Amino acid sequence: MSLLAAGAWADAVKLDDQFTSLAIGRHLRVLDDATGRMSLADVEAHRQDSRWEDRHSDNLNFGYSRSALWLHGELINQASQQQDWLLGMRYPLLDYLDIYVVWPDGRVQHHASGDRRPFNTRSLENRNFYFKLKLQQGDHVQLYVRVQGQGSLQAPLEVSTPSHYEHHARVEQLLLGIYSGALLAMLAYNLLLSLSLRDKAYVYYVVYISMFGLAQYTLSGLAFETLWPDHPNWGNHAAPIFMGLAGWSLVLFSRQFLNLQAYRPRADLAMRGLQWLYLIVAPGSLVLPYAIPIKIVTLATIVTPVLLLIISVGLLRQGVQQARYFLAAFTVLLLGVLLTAVHMFGIVQRNFLTEYSMQIGSMLEFTLLSFALAHRVKLAREENERLQMAHATELEHRVQERTRDLDKAMDELTKANERLQELTEQDALTGLKNRMFLSERMPEVWRLAQRWHTPVSVLMIDVDHFKRVNDDYGHLAGDEAIRLVAEVIAHTVQRPGDHAVRYGGEEFLVLLPQTHTVGAAHIAETIRLGVQALDFQHNGQRIPLTVSIGLASVVPTIDLPPQALLNAADKLLYQAKQAGRNRCALNPQALATQPRKSGAALKPAAGQPDPASSAQS
Ligand code: GH3
Ligand code: MG
Ligand code: MG
Repeated sequence: MSLLAAGAWADAVKLDDQFTSLAIGRHLRVLDDATGRMSLADVEAHRQDSRWEDRHSDNLNFGYSRSALWLHGELINQASQQQDWLLGMRYPLLDYLDIYVVWPDGRVQHHASGDRRPFNTRSLENRNFYFKLKLQQGDHVQLYVRVQGQGSLQAPLEVSTPSHYEHHARVEQLLLGIYSGALLAMLAYNLLLSLSLRDKAYVYYVVYISMFGLAQYTLSGLAFETLWPDHPNWGNHAAPIFMGLAGWSLVLFSRQFLNLQAYRPRADLAMRGLQWLYLIVAPGSLVLPYAIPIKIVTLATIVTPVLLLIISVGLLRQGVQQARYFLAAFTVLLLGVLLTAVHMFGIVQRNFLTEYSMQIGSMLEFTLLSFALAHRVKLAREENERLQMAHATELEHRVQERTRDLDKAMDELTKANERLQELTEQDALTGLKNRMFLSERMPEVWRLAQRWHTPVSVLMIDVDHFKRVNDDYGHLAGDEAIRLVAEVIAHTVQRPGDHAVRYGGEEFLVLLPQTHTVGAAHIAETIRLGVQALDFQHNGQRIPLTVSIGLASVVPTIDLPPQALLNAADKLLYQAKQAGRNRCALNPQALATQPRKSGAALKPAAGQPDPASSAQS
């Protein structure tokens, strides 16, 4: 009773029928045991020591400390029915937790637990520490709690009724289930995407989600409960290791995603340093005393999103599109971290948002990052399409150009070919066709005439006494004479289908399809008179020129060869020469069969009554 009378102590915790749950930090005094060696008996002996102090906080938080900390309070059960209570705290990372309940009669109940001790040291199977406390009606007990550890020392002790605890535990189980399920779905989805896209950023992102998930699972105490309940030492190393790996993969992912090396080489260098720090500290946890790596990793975990936030703002100002969702993602993550911290320091009261701010923040972060990755793929696809389009246009342009060139070349080739054909069928001196042309064209003309039963006429033309021109005036004068005669012939023979050919030296042949003897005779006379009228001068002296012409016509029968017509014309030319030259010889019978007689210039040659006649002007 003297204890209560002292008055300097905090109030006892009174449990009555209305009681459901209470954080009892304000009802506890704290004693710092720097040696860590004090026993319950030592502490009880120092109950009145002035070293005990009040912290005036519901949730006690001592930060990092080498000391063992003793808490002392009193519990009075004033409830009429209730005898079973739960005493514990929602902080699963505490290394050593010893709870002593001392009855006035000296009876002591001791719970020794903490995450440095095997999981089965807990009286309730829960990731957090909770212990059953049975108090008879009116019981007034002393509560001593000893906490010690290399991590952050927190003791948010509370007393609950079992029903309140169970309700809270059910809700929490459901929410953590939803969170884990969402995280796993996100992981599976992005894993499949990373396999199909083979994008490095996706691979790093998948590693990040995995490591972040493992770190969260460890920090929540669930990993100890479900994965390694008998390995408390490993359980303590696991937290900094997974946190380190999560930080490492986050930096790796961010550098890749933002293409930091290209946009911000200096920031990239800093991030690379951070990446190495994580990578060294993570396995270092296995050899270093726990307190060192956990402090480094915790600090780096706060610095990293702040740095990423600053970099994202810079990149966004620079106009880098990808940075937008990145910025949003780390803003919500930081808000989550901030709320957790604010809650830890007891600035705001516990509520749903502060309790699960980390989970909500990280879930939003992952969703936004997935969206950012998808957006990045979209940007890449758009760029690809733009390039393809440009390429296709360029290709089409080139094909058109090539086609144009090819068409032009083909055209030129065709023209050259035609010109070549013309040249091989043309006589160089006169520009008339040559014998090659005749031998090519004659068979066709002949076949058509045979089919349609139309007449074909041929004029065989030879310059008279041409040897004399050559002899008297020279070959050049002779050539000039041949050209002039050819001109007269070409000028006269102009109907399409008619052909003038240089047949030999000063011999010409005129082929006249669908032309009967009268028409041919008319042309022959025109040529003869034309040549005779030529004013051919050499050295101021006029040289008279005349030609003799043999004219043969026939409607070719099926068995008659074209050579027969040429032979007949040749024979008639010989007759014209014989008859005195400068005349045209033709077959008078052929003339007789024509519908109309035009005889004026066509008289039988003297002394040549049969079969040819010759004309003389
Ligand atoms: P005819 O009246 O009997 O025809 O007497 P001709 O002197 O014309 O005799 P012929 O037709 O047999 O002689 C052809 C001559 O034409 C032979 C040759 O000297 C000359 N000659 C042939 N081709 C050319 C040529 O391309 N240029 C020149 N300058 N003379 C040619
Ligand atoms: Mg001749
Ligand atoms: Mg001659």
